[in-house]
Amino acid sequence: MAREPSRSSPTWPSGASTVVGVIGDPIAHSLSPLLHNAAFDALGLDWVSVAFPVSAGATAAALDGMRALKIAGLSVTMPHKEPAFAAVDDVTEVARRLGVVNCISRRDDNLLGDSTDGEGFLAALRRASAFDPAAKRCLVIGAGGAARAVTLALADAGAAEVVVVNRTASRAEATAALAGSAGRVGSGADVADAELIVQATSLGMAGDDGDHGAGSQVLPLDPSALHRGQIVADLVYHPLETPLLRAAQERGATPVGGLAMLVHQAALALERWTGQTVPVEAMWDAARLRAGG
Ligand code: NAP
Repeated sequence: MAREPSRSSPTWPSGASTVVGVIGDPIAHSLSPLLHNAAFDALGLDWVSVAFPVSAGATAAALDGMRALKIAGLSVTMPHKEPAFAAVDDVTEVARRLGVVNCISRRDDNLLGDSTDGEGFLAALRRASAFDPAAKRCLVIGAGGAARAVTLALADAGAAEVVVVNRTASRAEATAALAGSAGRVGSGADVADAELIVQATSLGMAGDDGDHGAGSQVLPLDPSALHRGQIVADLVYHPLETPLLRAAQERGATPVGGLAMLVHQAALALERWTGQTVPVEAMWDAARLRAGG
């Protein structure tokens, strides 16, 4: 089979190159183009990924542009995940249950919305710890988009229970409901009993809530409740080692950073777009190089 045009050629990309990308605002910090392009490099595909800064309120216009410009796939990040759900032509079952879309595939003029966050989280968990959520007691801190995706994925994976703890109680109720009979709203008192703890708030993220990384003491739970035998996953990936992951390590629990989920949800998007098995290791190497890990 003829190999695709060399991506290191000075004439690349060409008019024949396939374009994908990511939409969001802000978007300049996004690792998605890096992850996508690392995979295209490894596969030798004549595809290129770019970041599109799309302001709030312009989601539907951006998706019209996707159709018109024949963009093959788009990753979707804040603030477009909910508006994109309303603007695509069709959605997968997971996206329908979550009410958000983080990955759009184009087939002719038809846009299919999907959510790869939950599946990406489970893949990251398998990679880091070989932890299987089936019949396990899980606790999710947060009730935003990421927490909802993880809660649904854990319930679908057969977790015995998914306890949701969140600052705003009404949002915790709605998130726990995604887990059906396995879901309930909990509190910090549930941390010690959990076999898996997932931190899915923006706490600990550099630049959030006045926290700028080094020296931060921002923790979403009392670290003295953590212990050996627990898996503690933090979805925050900037910084790579969050205050919570440090606390988990110090208490003998197994820490799982957020970068692996980012890589795996991106790999799943690329599989949908290209129909190929994606070289996750190449994406992982690129992400760690950029993130300084
Ligand atoms: P989101 O929808 O805005 O939800 C934010 C969550 O954080 C809510 O539960 C919110 O609580 C809580 N929160 C915010 N500030 C808080 C504070 N000061 N104290 C207590 N709780 C607070 O955001 P998201 O999209 O779910 O993202 C959440 C985090 O996950 C972000 O750090 C994001 O970068 C990360 N993430 C990582 C990946 C990955 O691939 N690794 C993927 C998606 C997201 P309320 O409900 O009370 O407002």
